[in-house]
Amino acid sequence: MTVAPVPNLNPDSRELVASIFEAVEGISAAFPRSLFLQRARDGGHARELWDALVAADLLAIGVPESLGGAGGGLTGTTAVMEALARKGIPPLQYSLTTFCREAILRHGSEQQIKDHVVTSVTGRRKICLGVTEPEAGTNSFAARTYARKTADGSYRITGQKVFISGADESDHILLLARTAPPGEPLSRRSGFGLFIVDLSLPGIELRQLDIEWYAPENQFEVFFDDVEVPQDALIGTEGLGFDHILSCLNQERVTVAAWALGLGEYALQKAVEYAKVRAPFGTPIGTHQAVAHPLALARAEMEAARQVMYSAAASYDSGVDAGDQANMAKLLGSRAALAAVDSAIQTHGGSAFVYESDVVTIWPMVRILQIAPLNNESILNYISERVLGLPRS
Ligand SMILES: Cc1cc2nc3c(=O)[nH]c(=O)nc-3n(C[C@H](O)[C@H](O)[C@H](O)COP(=O)(O)OP(=O)(O)OC[C@H]3O[C@@H](n4cnc5c(N)ncnc54)[C@H](O)[C@@H]3O)c2cc1C
Repeated sequence: MTVAPVPNLNPDSRELVASIFEAVEGISAAFPRSLFLQRARDGGHARELWDALVAADLLAIGVPESLGGAGGGLTGTTAVMEALARKGIPPLQYSLTTFCREAILRHGSEQQIKDHVVTSVTGRRKICLGVTEPEAGTNSFAARTYARKTADGSYRITGQKVFISGADESDHILLLARTAPPGEPLSRRSGFGLFIVDLSLPGIELRQLDIEWYAPENQFEVFFDDVEVPQDALIGTEGLGFDHILSCLNQERVTVAAWALGLGEYALQKAVEYAKVRAPFGTPIGTHQAVAHPLALARAEMEAARQVMYSAAASYDSGVDAGDQANMAKLLGSRAALAAVDSAIQTHGGSAFVYESDVVTIWPMVRILQIAPLNNESILNYISERVLGLPRS
């Protein structure tokens, strides 16, 4: 199945997207979906995938050329994620590192950019994201993890994060913690700090969660017991940590849409191939409109979401506020992908549930993308309030 061009991109960006798709062909040959699944099952990692991304210079995409990157902005990062997901090998560690370094690029000091962004280009820095807490969940304003400033300017961090992907593979965590003492109210513009914390520091403990979703990256509870971090671990301004994270969320929304849509397309391709050959009544099941129409609808809905996604990326890259489009892209992309995967399961019948057919194995990840990194209800809240002007829920 050919990759449809993206009409709303300028010629340079179209060329960039095409070259990224070409580079990913080689990566998926070296690290195919079968190996991705095997690692997921074994609890292993996808180190070769990371190394292949570095070798193909794809970790340089999204970092300005002045910092040793390859430029390409969010459009490029989106294309990397979409192309890899279409091959069934979406790299979560790539998604996390590119999101975290965006926050450092935007709000970090020159030295922090040198230490954490420039090093990421050559794959030497892997960063995970520590936002979610067991009690607070979606409501980050109920965060308890506390970074207490000491007399010498350093911080001592105590608390717990949960569902932290790739914490065992990452060397640093981008951590959202309250700097306002416990009990004091938190808001978008006060009381939070954003920290880049070395995961090898004393007082940090990881406990692995047993998550059923066929990915080579693992999830962890991360405990901080009076962890001393230096003053220069603070990114941006103390108090504005939540605001700093929010300013990068559009980047995350768009790359998550790419992740979902790529996997949706991977499932759709499998379904189409199967519907051409499976013939329990003598003719291929694809001749039945009850089988063909859901697949056709999935293609149309994913293509529409894809256009919104690349349009959001282009707006972001041109400095325009992309919030509305980025949120819509995540909502539409994750929903369209889920419908595609569901249709692929129906098309495969019982075979969908045989592990080797690799159909039901796509479902948990696409299902999780309705919930994480932000649930679709919260995105609908955003559209209701910010786009439609309805009263806040
Ligand atoms: C595989 C996986 C990987 C993850 N990786 C990371 C990571 O690397 N770093 C990190 O910080 N977090 C990570 N998360 C956490 C993820 O971001 C949270 O699960 C997500 O934000 C939802 O929080 P929660 O699970 O506590 O759900 P809750 O906040 O308990 O919400 C439960 C449900 O209630 C509904 N709901 C919640 N709030 C609202 C609302 N305002 N309006 C309407 N309905 C609402 C939604 O349906 C939601 O699914 C990961 C989660 C998973 C499953």
